[in-house]
Amino acid sequence: MGEIDFNDTKTAFISKTDSELRKARLLFSVMANPALVNLGKNMVNLAFSLRIPVDWAIRPTIYAHFVGGRSLAECDPIVRKLGSHQLKSILDYSVEGKHDEASMQATLEETLRSIRHAAANPDIPFAVFKPTAFAPASLLEQAVPGRLPSDIAGYQRFKESVDELCKAAHALDVPLMIDAEDSWYQHLVDETVEEMMIKYNGSKAIVFNTLQMYRHDRLQYLGELIQKARTHGFRAGIKFVRGAYMEKERERALKMNYLSPIQPDKQATDGAFNNALMLSLRNIDVIDIFCGSHNEESNLLLAKAMDENGLAKNDRRIWFAQLYGMSDHISFNLAKAGYNVAKYVPYGPVKSVMPYLFRRAEENTSIAGQTGRELSLIRKELSRRKSG
Ligand SMILES: Cc1cc2nc3c(=O)[nH]c(=O)nc-3n(C[C@H](O)[C@H](O)[C@H](O)COP(=O)(O)OP(=O)(O)OC[C@H]3O[C@@H](n4cnc5c(N)ncnc54)[C@H](O)[C@@H]3O)c2cc1C
Repeated sequence: MGEIDFNDTKTAFISKTDSELRKARLLFSVMANPALVNLGKNMVNLAFSLRIPVDWAIRPTIYAHFVGGRSLAECDPIVRKLGSHQLKSILDYSVEGKHDEASMQATLEETLRSIRHAAANPDIPFAVFKPTAFAPASLLEQAVPGRLPSDIAGYQRFKESVDELCKAAHALDVPLMIDAEDSWYQHLVDETVEEMMIKYNGSKAIVFNTLQMYRHDRLQYLGELIQKARTHGFRAGIKFVRGAYMEKERERALKMNYLSPIQPDKQATDGAFNNALMLSLRNIDVIDIFCGSHNEESNLLLAKAMDENGLAKNDRRIWFAQLYGMSDHISFNLAKAGYNVAKYVPYGPVKSVMPYLFRRAEENTSIAGQTGRELSLIRKELSRRKSG
């Protein structure tokens, strides 16, 4: 275990040229300023609504830092580059918020392409999709836990699309990650994904659900899922994340007067996240663990616990992952130490990935320490190179 050093910036930024690092320094400095982020967001939204082209400004800057390209093929150079440093890529078609029939069909076809693309490239160990891309707006709006939706056709459509993707993934032996979004329709997703796990996850985890540990009910859900895996004889695949939509969740709960599903504070989320990793490790005979986090402590905790339990660093049931453009000090140093590490690389047309980019910008502004950490690591590496 002694060999993991997140302060090793030489390893962290080995794939970046000096000029790329200087660009990253400028980007993170701008994102550290909430007023600038807000101004940028308003200007971009205005430009899109007035049909003023802004791709020229976005593509070489924030887009190039956080996004792989407009298509699967455009991500190839990044996949190859990461692969040459023992890092794998997960290409995530990040078109958000469109629920009409034509968009759902187009996203289904693109996701099938991404599954075939992963099957053909050992540097792409998983495929991924957002389940809401296949749920008509009428279904999402009416979703109520414990009640069958009145939009039966939409409900069927959703299940059929998810099944088609899981079936293709199973046939091509490509593990498939299903992202989590808003809590109020996650029960639809959980129910469907459990059916898929029973159908397609025999002795190998092909279908992965996502648990957002900022929800206070998720540890209990994990315990129940482990029990189901034992009862039905399938391997559960779980991506663990803290959760990306905290403010929206809290605001909606307040507005609609129900108990917020979110943990009371960061400490509670951290505790639940770490406990979920440890519970899963104790049940590694029935669960594959995918740790999606930029939190140094959680990543170290899992790495250390693997060692203590006598598991190989590259045990194929356990993965670490960070988003492309963030926390390279974690990804590159874990990969160098021999763990399985992947970068989530979003791709898609500039306009379609803007919600994703706004989230990255806001996250890097609002989370205390995150931008500061990225900036200080980049500065440290630039001065190391200068003096070296
Ligand atoms: C590979 C990968 C895949 C991802 N996929 C998804 C996904 O499918 N769905 C999704 O929602 N997110 C996803 N995320 C984003 C993730 O949920 C987090 O938003 C992000 O990673 C920041 O959390 P962290 O673990 O990196 O660590 P940290 O930076 O230590 O934690 C920040 C997180 O802690 C939580 N938090 C902060 N303050 C509080 C508070 N006051 N009370 C309670 N909780 C608090 C929030 O979840 C916040 O995002 C993914 C992230 C990665 C790296």
